[in-house]
Amino acid sequence: MKLRSKFLLFTLPMILLPLLIASSLSYVYLKGATHRLSIVQLESSLLQLGSDTHARLKLAVSNVSLFANADKLKAYVSLDQLSDSPALAGEVTYALTEFIKAFPNYSEIALFGKDGRLLESVSDVFEQHDFQARFIRQMIEARLDHHEGVWIPEQDGNIYYLIAHAIKRIDAGNQYIKNRSENIGYLFISVDMRFLHDLIKEGVQKQGIAYFLSNQLGEVVFTPVGANSSVEAESSEVLKKQIKQIISSRSSSINQYNGESGTYYGGYKRLIQDLYLVGMIAESDMVVSSAMFKTYVTWFLVVTMLISYILLRSQINSLITTPIDILRKLLVKFKKGEYDHDVSALGSEELTLLAEDFKDLSKGLSESTETVKTLAYYDSLTGLPNRITFNANLKKALNHCERTQSVLGLLFIDLDNFKTANDVYGHQAGDELLKETATRLESCLRGADVVSRKVETSSEWGNDIVVRLGGDEFTIILTDIEQAHQASMVAQRVVDVLSHPFEIAGAEINIGASIGIAMYPVDGTTADRLIKSADLAMYEAKQKGRNNYKFFTKALNEAVAKRLEIESLLRHAIEHDEFFLVYQPKVRLKDGEVVGFEALVRWNHPEMGVLLPAQFIPVAEDSGMVIDIGRLVIEKVCQQLGLWQNEGLGSTKIAINFSSLHLMKNGILEDIRETFSKHSQSLDNIEIELSEDALIADVNNGVELLNQLNMMGVESALDDFGAGCSSLVFLRKFPVKLIKIDRSYIENIETSLNDRDVLNAMIELAKALSFDVAIEGVETIEQLKIIQKMRCDYVQGFYFSEPLVAEELQFKYVIPSTRRNHTGS
Ligand code: C2E
Ligand code: CA
Ligand code: CA
Repeated sequence: MKLRSKFLLFTLPMILLPLLIASSLSYVYLKGATHRLSIVQLESSLLQLGSDTHARLKLAVSNVSLFANADKLKAYVSLDQLSDSPALAGEVTYALTEFIKAFPNYSEIALFGKDGRLLESVSDVFEQHDFQARFIRQMIEARLDHHEGVWIPEQDGNIYYLIAHAIKRIDAGNQYIKNRSENIGYLFISVDMRFLHDLIKEGVQKQGIAYFLSNQLGEVVFTPVGANSSVEAESSEVLKKQIKQIISSRSSSINQYNGESGTYYGGYKRLIQDLYLVGMIAESDMVVSSAMFKTYVTWFLVVTMLISYILLRSQINSLITTPIDILRKLLVKFKKGEYDHDVSALGSEELTLLAEDFKDLSKGLSESTETVKTLAYYDSLTGLPNRITFNANLKKALNHCERTQSVLGLLFIDLDNFKTANDVYGHQAGDELLKETATRLESCLRGADVVSRKVETSSEWGNDIVVRLGGDEFTIILTDIEQAHQASMVAQRVVDVLSHPFEIAGAEINIGASIGIAMYPVDGTTADRLIKSADLAMYEAKQKGRNNYKFFTKALNEAVAKRLEIESLLRHAIEHDEFFLVYQPKVRLKDGEVVGFEALVRWNHPEMGVLLPAQFIPVAEDSGMVIDIGRLVIEKVCQQLGLWQNEGLGSTKIAINFSSLHLMKNGILEDIRETFSKHSQSLDNIEIELSEDALIADVNNGVELLNQLNMMGVESALDDFGAGCSSLVFLRKFPVKLIKIDRSYIENIETSLNDRDVLNAMIELAKALSFDVAIEGVETIEQLKIIQKMRCDYVQGFYFSEPLVAEELQFKYVIPSTRRNHTGS
């Protein structure tokens, strides 16, 4: 629901509810009040009408009584013949006329003889006097001196009150004892009760009261006016019954009655003798005014509601919803990075402040987003895009190439000798080296624009980029090429620029790079595939002598497949211990004595036959399985030592080759110690051979481990010396006893004098640093002869013996006492 509707839904009732309650309360109060008022009005109007009528009629009665005693009247009715005294007749007629004039609501005044005969009548209303005569006759018959009654002539719908009084003979003796006197005539007046009619009419119109005149039995004698009241809705039968009920209640107060079509209130007032004024009012009429009030209130509420709705809506619009809409639009613009908008349009100060805050916030956000982006997508050291950016951009580039059917080159660059440089010159120099490398790499890409380090954020692919993947690994994505040889040109440029010495921290540092190249689509169509291919090619380059580049080839791929196969087979081989050891004797040069053996591992695969370490150790290194193999080797060495001891062959030294991974593993020393003590073997009987790579990887740790091995009584040798990026500087640091010069150094000594000099120099240096020296791979007598002239301590090689299984060794050699002079023959 929208805010506006919610607000209205919330506010309107807040305004209307109190109004509604107030009006309902007033209505209820008003209803009660008008109810009470109506009853009071009914009561008072009955009282008023009653006493008014009573007074008038009483006056008429006394007037008649008084006038009946007039002597002239007495004299006149006493006349036997009216014509006897015309003067008197004239006087009486005059008096009657005057009387009528004095009381205009007397409609008739008449004189009747004692026999009921009409003698004289003054009336401007009646022409017929039958009823009057009948009234007098009733009186005569009933021997009444005074008679009153109501007369409602059918013709004129008025009501008249008739009063007759007997005229007595003048009795000088006792004129006041009228009853006993003889009636000589009757004075009659008829009071026109139109006044009542008018009074009633007024009451009816004002108050909705219906009046009836009834006799004491409750019989309605007259309904003064068309009452225009709800009372009339009642059927006349019910009405009559009610009027009877009212009269018979004999109670002067107003009471409640239930009719057929509602509730009524009614009361009566006796007007005179047998004439009662009954007043009734229907409850529905009583509340007419309050019902009207109800209608007014309803209208008022509706109108108020409408007005408040319109006002509120416009206020909400101008104060809340419109500013919020503006704010929203502003936010959308802020999101797009458009900050320069006038926020004063929002109207209210708070909202403007809010908008300003939003503005600041979004500015801050966009800045921090930039920072985060930089941190997340760029390498903080070199400023080059990082691996995340590389992954994203490579995918984009591949999409682009797929669409445009173009070629892509991926270069994987690994610095040669970076680790050494880092160790020798320190990390700061290492960092500088990487920064400089980044700059040089960028310079290898064509065009000035590609030097820009801006990451492509659009979905479209842009420029070629140089990326630092981590450590000393970099990569270049080349898209603007048509053929593989263009990629090789870039690669060559990289090799060239990186082979120039780096001048850092006052030193001249030489590093090179090994580069692997993979091409889309031939070497892979997915990012993963391409990366793997380039990586493989890079390893190949490294293996093929460093500081060069290699393209990915099918053969490489097959090698990889082979590697994967070996890896899974190797797991199985470890579980089932398919390994055995062969031993190659180590011969002391000066006397030809076998002073020990080097244990070399072999894998006896059930189908492939015996596999050499070169076929599985690299895979085992990569997968970490070399540690398990190392454990098996130590175990086997211990067993072999035990066997030889049991056979009484005395103790001999066995050299064990250790992978750097195994050596650096936590708890390696405890492991070795435990295995040896389990087999009750002395650690003096072994020697550990480590390649220089293993030690260079972590010089400090390596030195520490070697020291500890020494303390345990285990001597160590530096294997394959000179094969890697040997640094003679390092040599001094390592507490090793023996240096084994790599086979490659003697391969050509028969033919190359230079090689011979190099070998000699190496031996001399090692000797100068107090190491023992061993030469591996002596295959011919010629080689041996040359070596014999040098200060070498030990030799190993096929010339003496190939590595053999222990059984064969025992057969061929008598250890250690047998002496065979290989130097001869
Ligand atoms: P390495 O430690 O330099 O071992 C000497 C290698 O040279 C052995 O190869 C050996 O058979 C070979 N060799 C000895 N004399 C001659 C010779 O006159 N001419 C020629 N051409 N070769 C000779 P192998 O047994 O194939 O072992 C290769 C490498 O595998 C070893 O080089 C060593 O680094 C590694 N290796 C062997 N056994 C183990 C082991 O148990 N554990 C570990 N981690 N590595 C081992
Ligand atoms: Ca070795
Ligand atoms: Ca070696």
